[in-house]
Amino acid sequence: MSLKTGAKFYRRTDFKLTLWYILTFLISALIISGFLYLRLRHQLIKEVDRFLLDEIKELREILAKHPEEKHLLKDFENHIEARTLYPVFFKILTEKGDQFYTSKNFGMIGYVTGKDLLMKVKKGDEIRENFRPEGRRRPYRIITTLIPIPGYSGYIIHMGTHLKFVKKSLSNFKNNILITLPILIFLGSIGGWFLAKRSLSPISYITSKTKNITSKDLSERLIPRGTGDEMDELIHTINGMIMRLEDSFKRMAEFTADTSHELKTPICALRGEAEVLLSKARTIEEYQDALVHFLEEFDRMNKILNDLILLSKSDSAQMELKMSPLKLDYLLESLCNLFQVLSEQKNISFIVGPLEEVSVMGDKIRLQQLFTNLIDNAIKYTSVGSIHVSLEKNGDVALVKIKDTGIGIPKEEQENIFKRFYRVDRSRQTGGVGLGLSIAQWIVRAHHGKIEVDSEPNKGSTFTVSLPALKG
Ligand code: ADP
Repeated sequence: MSLKTGAKFYRRTDFKLTLWYILTFLISALIISGFLYLRLRHQLIKEVDRFLLDEIKELREILAKHPEEKHLLKDFENHIEARTLYPVFFKILTEKGDQFYTSKNFGMIGYVTGKDLLMKVKKGDEIRENFRPEGRRRPYRIITTLIPIPGYSGYIIHMGTHLKFVKKSLSNFKNNILITLPILIFLGSIGGWFLAKRSLSPISYITSKTKNITSKDLSERLIPRGTGDEMDELIHTINGMIMRLEDSFKRMAEFTADTSHELKTPICALRGEAEVLLSKARTIEEYQDALVHFLEEFDRMNKILNDLILLSKSDSAQMELKMSPLKLDYLLESLCNLFQVLSEQKNISFIVGPLEEVSVMGDKIRLQQLFTNLIDNAIKYTSVGSIHVSLEKNGDVALVKIKDTGIGIPKEEQENIFKRFYRVDRSRQTGGVGLGLSIAQWIVRAHHGKIEVDSEPNKGSTFTVSLPALKG
């Protein structure tokens, strides 16, 4: 394995997971073994202590009955000396600390009674200690206690035995752990590796599948395993993302095609007109008329381009709104004054009001553009009757209604009119390219509002814009 692939292997999640698994396993096994070792040690020493206390009890009975008779102590020593497996040895001191009787083998271990210990025992404490003679490996357990004798001053007894079997049991236990631990770790790592591999296998599938997905082919989808776990959730999320990307790529392609079409048509028409104009000599008036028409067409194309720039900026979130508190009634009143003239020219009555006093947080230029588009449409698509603009406050919402008695929009078309380049009937020949309502919808949404249409063919349309109103 090369160094490079080796490094890659160490960075792999399944390797890291297995490593963590082994580490956790090892630490838990060590903690549990340590705990069991201490429990066993404690239990074994408790047993030894119980055994020593039994002997002390026996000695106490002898001393209580015959406090001065050392030959009975000798008998006791002979009796316990016979035990080869658990030899016990003892030493008896008077309460003052003078030696009264010492069994033969007690002398051999070289235990010296400390002054502190004597003081504590005289106060009634029972001292249990482990003692290791210098230069020897074997430890001993010694219990020291006071035996009060009625009528006498009392005796201090050291009773001890070796801890050879305790040590042996503990060392056996340790060896067993050391033998089984590597086996457990080995089996644990295989299990850990298998689990890591199994739980990460969908990731390899996702990686290999998503590698094939490019902007040219977004039709590919990942297949969930149907387990309903996090991996399935991830697959659903990725599928959703690919679907949204596919949708926006499709819309982008349509948008580009529509844009090219909308701009190409007037450019071709203008070019044709210019060619006809230049085919023979014309009068000054004819040239002037043509230039006026050219200017109108340039203005129209300029408007389309501006709308397109605005929409593409809003798509890429580059369009920043300059928000400030605005009196919506003022804004509508001044806009309506401008449109009054236009509707008079078409012999349509323009009714304004009631305009309730309502303020909103908004971008003045964009809100003017929103209502201009709506009022402009109302005038464009109405030939007889009236236009009615009103504003009312409904709780926390400012409601602007633009009602006309124009040609109306068929029910099935109403949900499409906010789409880019969508025109209900291209033969209507109004000069629009179908961007006005998309821009209106974007502006309303950017102001956290809502735009709705209610319309009936040949009766008229009502566009209602709801915007969050400022308090007060
Ligand atoms: P346009 O520039 O073509 O007016 P819009 O996006 O403003 O584009 O409107 C989309 C379509 O919705 C229009 O082509 C028109 O058919 C329809 N429409 C919009 N407003 C009205 C209205 N007030 N009355 C009737 N039809 C309307």
